[in-house]
Amino acid sequence: MKSLKEFVQLSEDIKPYNILVISHSGAQVRDTARETSSTPIIDKTAKQLGLNVVHADFVGMHMNPIENGHEIHSLPLDDELQVILPDHKGEYKYQKPIKINQSDWIIMPRGLGTLGFTGSRHWYDMMSYLEEEGYFVLNSIDCYDLCNSKYMSYLKCLQYDIRTPKTEPIVHSETVEDVFKRLDTNFPVVLKSSSGSQTGVGVVVVESMRSLKALVQMTLLYNKYLSLLLQEYIKIDYDIRVIVNEGEVVGSMKRNVMSDDIRSNVSMGATAEVIELTELERTESIRIAEEFGGRLVGVDLLPSKDREKELPYCLEVNANPGLNGIEEVADKPTKRILEKYKDRSIWPVLTP
Ligand code: ADP
Ligand code: MG
Repeated sequence: MKSLKEFVQLSEDIKPYNILVISHSGAQVRDTARETSSTPIIDKTAKQLGLNVVHADFVGMHMNPIENGHEIHSLPLDDELQVILPDHKGEYKYQKPIKINQSDWIIMPRGLGTLGFTGSRHWYDMMSYLEEEGYFVLNSIDCYDLCNSKYMSYLKCLQYDIRTPKTEPIVHSETVEDVFKRLDTNFPVVLKSSSGSQTGVGVVVVESMRSLKALVQMTLLYNKYLSLLLQEYIKIDYDIRVIVNEGEVVGSMKRNVMSDDIRSNVSMGATAEVIELTELERTESIRIAEEFGGRLVGVDLLPSKDREKELPYCLEVNANPGLNGIEEVADKPTKRILEKYKDRSIWPVLTP
């Protein structure tokens, strides 16, 4: 039984907090148009839970220290939470500075994107700085960084005995045949960029050496510093997205592979439906989230043939998981996630 002191301590730990959601609402990653932001669902749910939620956009954002915290300066956002950029005459105005402090605010960088592609180094630096200043940044910048590199994620999987498709980096177009041999597999194989867009664009199934070589040459002609990976193809009909929050599964869905494709990204038009995880998939997803240092992540699994007995493959971990799809199939995952952080005892102990 808990002592009175422990009960008092417990109730003192449970209290509302403030959320600063930082988006990149103008991000245009692809030329298809099904991507929807999770910011509105976070906004709506936070308000229902009596949490103060404030929005900023990475574009145009800057900040400065004040007594007991920081001021965040952001361009305003409209009713649909889209940033209002300077107009065609170059005129702009900033919203009232947002005053944040370490003890009552969670920073959610929802629009960090991929470094040098859909995100700027400056945005990362601001978030790292806030973390160093003792703020609770959800997820940590280390976790974002790891998840943003499919190669680093692959190495992490090897390190922690997480089952994952065999992967080799392509370091020069002339070495492609050797890379294929090292992979020790058969065609088809999967060619992808290491810093994924999380949208399926940048993932190609390749059926022959002649296509592979030419494709690598063409890709590197347009961007010779792009990190390319060659990966074993795992035959699946669907993959599984598991949302793990603070060591708990708050939702899972299967995403059907699109016809005439190998991809199953909902943002490309794949259909999703609820799936019940096996115990093995559930515990493995939680372990993966933990090894990746993720508090709130989307773990993508490729199911094994015998889901009860054989470990799933971990395809990737998303540090900025979309919540719209899972909200439709699972039992109020966003509410469960935001509710969880009312418990201050799980906040990181960060000393500035
Ligand atoms: P992105 O970051 O763009 O989402 P992923 O690596 O997750 O890139 O690949 C997108 C989709 O392509 C996956 O959800 C999966 O359906 C399919 N896919 C990717 N790699 C493989 C693979 N090695 N074997 C089978 N399917 C794959
Ligand atoms: Mg993916």
